[in-house]
Amino acid sequence: MARLEGRTEGLTDVDLDLVRRARQFVAEHVASHASRWELDRRVPTETFALAAQQGLALMLQPEKEARADVPSYLGVARVAEEMGAGCLTFALPLLAQNYVAWAVARHGTLEARSSLLPQMRAGSLFGGFCLTEPGAGSDVAALATTARRVGGKWTITGEKARVLLGTEARFFIVFAKAKGADGSVGVGLYLVRAGLPGVEIGDAYAMVGGHALGCNSVRFWDVEVSDEDMLLPPGQGFSFAFDAIDFARLYVAATACGMLRAGLEEALQYTTGRMAFGQRIVDFQGPQWMLADVATHLLASRALVDEAVTCVSDRARFTPAVAHAKKFVTQVALPGLATCAQLLGANGLLARNASGRHFQCAKIAQYLDGSTEIQNLVIARSLMRTI
Ligand SMILES: Cc1cc2nc3c(=O)[nH]c(=O)nc-3n(C[C@H](O)[C@H](O)[C@H](O)COP(=O)(O)OP(=O)(O)OC[C@H]3O[C@@H](n4cnc5c(N)ncnc54)[C@H](O)[C@@H]3O)c2cc1C
Repeated sequence: MARLEGRTEGLTDVDLDLVRRARQFVAEHVASHASRWELDRRVPTETFALAAQQGLALMLQPEKEARADVPSYLGVARVAEEMGAGCLTFALPLLAQNYVAWAVARHGTLEARSSLLPQMRAGSLFGGFCLTEPGAGSDVAALATTARRVGGKWTITGEKARVLLGTEARFFIVFAKAKGADGSVGVGLYLVRAGLPGVEIGDAYAMVGGHALGCNSVRFWDVEVSDEDMLLPPGQGFSFAFDAIDFARLYVAATACGMLRAGLEEALQYTTGRMAFGQRIVDFQGPQWMLADVATHLLASRALVDEAVTCVSDRARFTPAVAHAKKFVTQVALPGLATCAQLLGANGLLARNASGRHFQCAKIAQYLDGSTEIQNLVIARSLMRTI
């Protein structure tokens, strides 16, 4: 198989080791299994646990970024690319667990931290990030879930939509509107365990693809949580959400680089091995130009991911930089993967081949953590601030 990995400049020894482990893990446990997960509509929790044991879960630890044994943001981006080359449905749930774990690690009680984080690190326990609602997607400020003060506790009421790994999660971090101590209404963040009375976990959505993501709706019918389970008070929830979403956008973009790379490698392999009209398909100029265009988009995509990583410590630059990266990579991945599938002829339709499977996932990536149009909104706002 052709290999079109990215540059290794700027990666530390820890990063290189993790990238190597991710590549090997994907080859052994993901690439040849992902189509079966999709056909069976199964969430591969046992594969997540195996990956966690290889250090591929909870890799992001911003407060420890300076430590020598922790991978850098660039390193995690390259790992995300490797995982995406296997399957978005493998990469995304593992990456998303980082943001859930941050909320617990930074704002949870000692009891929450010690009961949840070790199991999350081992890949045996998952949490759901509950921001989106049936009536509030792009416009998250319109969220309608509430947390009310009743009898010295918080009562959570509302419905959350499209919760990644929601079918498997044993707890949720829930963004809800609440009245603060000064009487003003703001969004707070609450930790809600799945077993509490009033928590109703929906079945996985039937989607056009991506069933291994375990995506569903979760309803909270007057669920009581204690003060200790308020992770962030009213007014502070959104700042955490947007911080997490910036990182999520970066790593969705890196994952989409991996999908595009896998499609290109497969198309290169196929057109080099397949004969038509007395010569290799790759020797016709038409296919060469198709491959060349995808390769250009892959390089440009990686450059935008790398550029975003360089802005990580400056929020004002990081937010638009990840919006550029997420928008561009997911925009070129979809037609790029269609091109790769086209180069495989009817083989491009087979579930076991990467191009068709990644094509479905590339569409999903266009919505994740804000649609393409919302990235444009972020970019345009940052442009207007320069005037
Ligand atoms: C597989 C999957 C997993 C997800 N996981 C999670 C999760 O774990 N937790 C979570 O909270 N959310 C999750 N999401 C939700 C995701 O973040 C939302 O789907 C996304 O923010 C878009 O919201 P929406 O789908 O409701 O689209 P809508 O808000 O209904 O938008 C519909 C269309 O209108 C466009 N639009 C909206 N506003 C504007 C505007 N101002 N200008 C121009 N166009 C506009 C949008 O771009 C889109 O094309 C997930 C989504 C998917 C697909």
